[in-house]
Amino acid sequence: MPDKRILILGGTQDAIEIAQLAHAAGYDVTTSLAGVTRAPKLPIGAVRSGGFGGAEAMAAFIRAQGFVAVVDATHPFAAQISRAGFEAAGLAAIPYARLERPAWQAQSGDNWVCVPDIAAAVAALPPNAKVFLTVGRKAVPQFMARADLSGIARMIEPPPQTFTPGWTLLLARPPFDVEEEKGLMQLECITHLVTKNSGGEMTRSKLVAARDLFLPVIMIERPDKPKALCFSDLVLLTKFLAENI
Ligand code: NAP
Repeated sequence: MPDKRILILGGTQDAIEIAQLAHAAGYDVTTSLAGVTRAPKLPIGAVRSGGFGGAEAMAAFIRAQGFVAVVDATHPFAAQISRAGFEAAGLAAIPYARLERPAWQAQSGDNWVCVPDIAAAVAALPPNAKVFLTVGRKAVPQFMARADLSGIARMIEPPPQTFTPGWTLLLARPPFDVEEEKGLMQLECITHLVTKNSGGEMTRSKLVAARDLFLPVIMIERPDKPKALCFSDLVLLTKFLAENI
């Protein structure tokens, strides 16, 4: 199976790990990044950056580069690129497989309010809530538009807009420690945690901290992704590649 070329749709730690495993298994890997992060952690192999301009353009890229499979390891909330990757693989007549880490599940002691999207998360917060916001930088303005809300917004890279009074920007990269998460929530008198249901271990600690502190969590559910071949485990996905690609 020497030098078979696979295209990984990335932007996540999972994508970096898949690139490593696939490279070790002998594939020629190229990871595609959206190009929105200033100093992204780079995977092994080739990297291309920036939007393709839709499924047709991605399919043309796939054909030109001679990829034999598309591996979608994008974030569970990156729905557009997954749709485009699925369609592009179909147009180029090559297999598409996705890594989808399992969603977090509420446990005994959790107080989750599950909502379908960002707008519903904003609406679910009671008046004058002091929020720990962990939804990435794109969604921050929708929360700040509510003048009664305040809190901390944590993200990896700063957002383009300035923060309104009452909001503090916290730049940090996971993983996070449970005790530190608890300390932060207590110090800042947080009343609500708002998060996307990203799943995975790197950021789970905030949920444990909220449970320990009896804090409500506004949990934003995942958008739909294409019904396609899906793996919850990196090793199984790599095994699939080895046996079928
Ligand atoms: P999205 O809404 O699904 O995609 C928006 C557009 O960005 C796509 O239509 C595509 O542009 C371009 N794009 C996105 N991911 C790309 C990739 N890996 N390679 C090439 N182009 C890509 O995605 P998003 O939610 O903005 O996320 C952008 C990136 O950040 C993804 O790689 C994702 O894995 C990562 N990420 C997202 C989140 C999140 O919460 N959404 C969290 C952590 C990491 P064209 O239409 O021009 O092709």
